[in-house]
Amino acid sequence: MKDHYDIAVVHGDGIGPEICLTTLDLLNAALPGAVLTFSEYPAGAEHFLKTGESLPQATYDACKAADAILHGAAGIPGVVGPDGTEVGVDFTLKLRFGLDLYANIRPIRLFDGVTGPLRGKQAEKIDYIVLRENSEGLYAARGAGSLLRSEVAVDTLVQTRHGIERIVRKAFELARLTDGAPSDGIRRVTCCDKANVLRSYAFFRAVFDEVAKDYPDIEAEHVIVDAMTMHMVMRPNHYNVVVTENMFGDILSDLAAATIGGLGLAPSAEVGAQNGLFQPSHGSAPDIAGQGIANPYGMVLSAAAMLDWLAQRHGDARLLRAADQIKQACTQAMQEGCFTPDLGGRLKTTELAQILIDKVKAM
Ligand code: ATP
Repeated sequence: MKDHYDIAVVHGDGIGPEICLTTLDLLNAALPGAVLTFSEYPAGAEHFLKTGESLPQATYDACKAADAILHGAAGIPGVVGPDGTEVGVDFTLKLRFGLDLYANIRPIRLFDGVTGPLRGKQAEKIDYIVLRENSEGLYAARGAGSLLRSEVAVDTLVQTRHGIERIVRKAFELARLTDGAPSDGIRRVTCCDKANVLRSYAFFRAVFDEVAKDYPDIEAEHVIVDAMTMHMVMRPNHYNVVVTENMFGDILSDLAAATIGGLGLAPSAEVGAQNGLFQPSHGSAPDIAGQGIANPYGMVLSAAAMLDWLAQRHGDARLLRAADQIKQACTQAMQEGCFTPDLGGRLKTTELAQILIDKVKAM
């Protein structure tokens, strides 16, 4: 247990600063007495426009040295580098690769009080994790794609035994910590791939099958990614932990977020052996930036995940308690119908954050 924890904060672009600032207030309310010390660093597309640099070395170094990294969101459409891709995503991607944040844990849970688009179907209880491999797959080609004579563009999909094994192990370990799938209470890991078409995914599946043998207490199953999009809508309560390649995980977790009410509700934790980066699943939402109406729940629940992760690493009960209080405050607020406009509410980001702060202070 440490006296205090250094948190590197990178607000980023669009709604990033709006949701990040309110989350810092909530964290201070849950953990008074400077248990967390926040240091803010620049990165993202706005910073690139001002300085020509999207991720300063000092920001990277500070993130590496911090106990945890808290990030809003980065990226502005149209702010691109010479290869035509957005510079704003440099922050997240360089940290993922540089700090080896191989496991991207994206919990999907339908809260009481949220009217999700699947109402009336068998989706009363949706509660599973999309575990996205975060260090290789198709995104390993970031910055290394090639364009031949303006005629042929190539990005390479990379899957290694080391990378697959550790993410699949993480999936089974996570499943052991859950109560199983809502439909039947069975602890289950679903391997989502495209093994029927591409060799790299057939390899992913073969390694999955090998690792699954070490976890006879957990059900293991396969599903092809295109069918998975249907199953996530038709029978979401069948799932417990879904493990998948980097880009599939990126896409599937947005769909999963839609089934629980929208992107604004979905948290995310990106962890490796040493470092952890916590940011919501969504991007910078430029269409609503500056209006003060961004939904802060995804960011707030990501901050709670940060506290859980730090608590586990350092055996600190104070952090565990604060994480529970924040999650409880969110659950209560949603049950009471406290929402921003994306979920049919009228609250501003800061008003909703204040409700959460008041609840935490009253606990
Ligand atoms: P990225 O690829 O960087 O994840 P994206 O292209 O998926 O970003 P987002 O920025 O996540 O796009 O936004 C997608 C849609 O979801 C937008 O219409 C946006 O307004 C909405 N959205 C995302 N986050 C929130 C939020 N916190 N509150 C309200 N609406 C949101």
